[in-house]
Amino acid sequence: MKEETRTIHPDTKSPPHDNPPLVYPIYQSVKFSLPSVGEIEKVYRGSREGFTYSRVANPTVSELASELAALQGTECGLCFGSGIAAIQFMFQALLSQGDHVVGLLQSYRPTRSVLRHAFSKFGVKSTFLCAGDYGALEKLLRDSPAKLIFFESPTNPVLDVVDIERIAALGKAHGATVVLDNTMAGFHQHRKVPVDLYLHSLTKYATGMGDVSGGAILGSQALIDRLVPYYVNFGAALEPLVASLMLRGLKSYFLRYRAQASAALELAQWLEGRPGVAGVRYPGLPSHPQHALAKRQMQEFGTMVCAHLAYEEREMKSFLDRLHIFKVTGSFGSVDSLAAPAKMFYGGDLTPAEFAQSGITPGTVRFSVGLEALDDLKADIEQAMVV
Ligand code: PLP
Repeated sequence: MKEETRTIHPDTKSPPHDNPPLVYPIYQSVKFSLPSVGEIEKVYRGSREGFTYSRVANPTVSELASELAALQGTECGLCFGSGIAAIQFMFQALLSQGDHVVGLLQSYRPTRSVLRHAFSKFGVKSTFLCAGDYGALEKLLRDSPAKLIFFESPTNPVLDVVDIERIAALGKAHGATVVLDNTMAGFHQHRKVPVDLYLHSLTKYATGMGDVSGGAILGSQALIDRLVPYYVNFGAALEPLVASLMLRGLKSYFLRYRAQASAALELAQWLEGRPGVAGVRYPGLPSHPQHALAKRQMQEFGTMVCAHLAYEEREMKSFLDRLHIFKVTGSFGSVDSLAAPAKMFYGGDLTPAEFAQSGITPGTVRFSVGLEALDDLKADIEQAMVV
């Protein structure tokens, strides 16, 4: 073999089987070989495990999917290049023309937009109900059967806690597939609730560094198998290098999450009743309207605090401009603390009637609590509130 050929086809060696690396390798390869065309056919038919093309499956990405499924307590999962890609995929795979989707008004704005503006073009109808109005949900499911119920708990951005078992039971009784977007709660929460699928944006807690985007759908082998034929041609696959960063990040997930959640509780307690604060929403506060449900349903109460500041829109913008440590951005879950003006980031698409029901006010801010010293975070808010 000439040297040009050998450099392209080197004699590669794997480490011995009893000598594995402690960090799962990054399989930075789009293509994989198999010993014969017959074996490739078997992979295509699903009668043997294996890899052919990274968009379809990649070992590092599969390892991440298994790790996330183990955290969430499901059998398996699929990973995507972003959370919203996972959402679009799910709608594409599960819905047909004429289907009806029920969601909550209190939910991540782009999810509403995808249904209202993209999927409506293909004849998919969507209805958004107020979180906690189980009577309205039951009536709607009776009058206008739904193929899919898609919801969050706690909701983004106002942190309503939703009775997952109740929604799942209503969904099952009316033949709907029930999907919980568990991004806000985290990978380890709401295990074993009777939902069909969990959806996660991995952009938040997987690394906690705000450096990479990803999404996942987790569920039973039987349901994920039904999605795979759509997945192979969807295209928004997660890159192996990103999956490897996420596998690394997950090693510190519980440490980060629990430290951030306990700081969030303390910040919420400190904010409550302060001058200029009209109300504080944190599922771990006894004053939260669904605190009892949150205690029953959640292991931790999350890393976000929603505060209704006694501001009109202009004063709110000045407050945000005065923050130094909290950075104003739409994401959450990072070790850096973040602040999101709820109306601007999450309420822009709501009609005046929907806005009135949404729980958002012009002064509502969603704080995502990071790992800085809590005293510095309090001081940052305090100095920004003084005009
Ligand atoms: N679901 C929820 C509840 C979110 O808050 C987000 C993003 O903030 C997403 C889905 C979308 O995730 P991504 O930003 O990774 O596309």
